[in-house]
Amino acid sequence: MPGPDISSYRDLDPVTRILMGPGPSDVPPRVLRAMAAPTLGHLDPDFLTIMSETQQLLRDVMQTENALTIPVSGTGSSGMEACFVNLVEPGDQVAVVVNGVFGTRMVDCAGRLGADIIQIDADWGRAVQPEAVEAALKGKQPKLFAVVHAETSTGVRQPLADIVKIVKDSGALMMLDCVTSLGGVEVKLDAWGIDAAFSGTQKCLSCPPGLAPLSFNEKAVAKLNARSSKVPSWYLDLTMVGDYWGSARKYHHTAPINMIYALRESLRIILEEGLEGRFARHQRNSEALIAGLETMGMKMLVPAEERLASLNTVLIPEGADDVATRKALLKQYGLEIGAGLGPLAGKMWRVGLQGHSSSERNVLLFLTALESVLSAQGVKVQPGGAAAAEAVFAKAR
Ligand SMILES: *Cc1c(COP(=O)(O)O)cnc(C)c1O
Repeated sequence: MPGPDISSYRDLDPVTRILMGPGPSDVPPRVLRAMAAPTLGHLDPDFLTIMSETQQLLRDVMQTENALTIPVSGTGSSGMEACFVNLVEPGDQVAVVVNGVFGTRMVDCAGRLGADIIQIDADWGRAVQPEAVEAALKGKQPKLFAVVHAETSTGVRQPLADIVKIVKDSGALMMLDCVTSLGGVEVKLDAWGIDAAFSGTQKCLSCPPGLAPLSFNEKAVAKLNARSSKVPSWYLDLTMVGDYWGSARKYHHTAPINMIYALRESLRIILEEGLEGRFARHQRNSEALIAGLETMGMKMLVPAEERLASLNTVLIPEGADDVATRKALLKQYGLEIGAGLGPLAGKMWRVGLQGHSSSERNVLLFLTALESVLSAQGVKVQPGGAAAAEAVFAKAR
């Protein structure tokens, strides 16, 4: 029998896009080159050194001294799941803030583990207010409180200081989803009193998707060690995964070696730039983008004080065709932006300015491209969007 006609499979040669959606973001060539380095064994002494370095770089970027700071094998959601499966036992009361897709996902995750959930709802497109958290926790003693720092589905950055205080008073562990903030917007695990946190590699870290940075402090580790039941996931059981990443270096599952090379390089790039400079760049580019969009006559979904610099949500202007606009941006400019999700589908666009994608060039290109695409549809837009953005850049120079 003849084999398959292998010549029908072309060489893999994907087009070059500009990734300005909710993630993945553009990956710097240095990170791609790091991934192409020869694969080592997962217990090779050279790889063990690379692991330790990656952990320390992660601690520096997450601003923590937590010993248990590791990249979980899997995308951001595996970090979310790892937090819940390790910290929740059936019947535990778990409070979760829901004001977007990822809060909803956390409720699903915790619910599957038999948690008794206290759901704290807030409007999609707004942060949760401390008073709402206080009211929801009144007279209750949840074991865990989970909130999304950067809601990628709405573009909201959740202020945390007041909430952490309320959560500490309740006795709960404070768990943070910092998938779309880490590496783009300030995240200080230790100074903020965060007990458990997870992130993902393909947002502001600008590494391909595939790993989920996770960090547990001593209180979270103590909760894990005090479990009366086994962690219900074998793969994500941090008592065992921690033995591989900790001093025992005991095989659990084969580490995704080349992904860890990539993460190490992306973290090196972040710390070379400096965290403060990197956050300022994200903030400036977001402000320039918004100045451009508002000059063109468009409106943002989120009030100024709750906006997330790494993910900007703009309302679709009257008369514009959502799908046709995104298609034209992709086809004519190679530019990817995100659609609205859930109740916000068809109502807004999500413009990511994450990590390597957060650049002056991309802001100017997007505004110019959007003006052209919308004008071609007959949508009335004011001119001068790119010039307004350029004025923001000029002021910062
Ligand atoms: C992207 C994202 C996730 C999930 O990460 P995946 O890599 O898609 O699994 C979780 N939370 C937030 C806030 C995200 O933006």
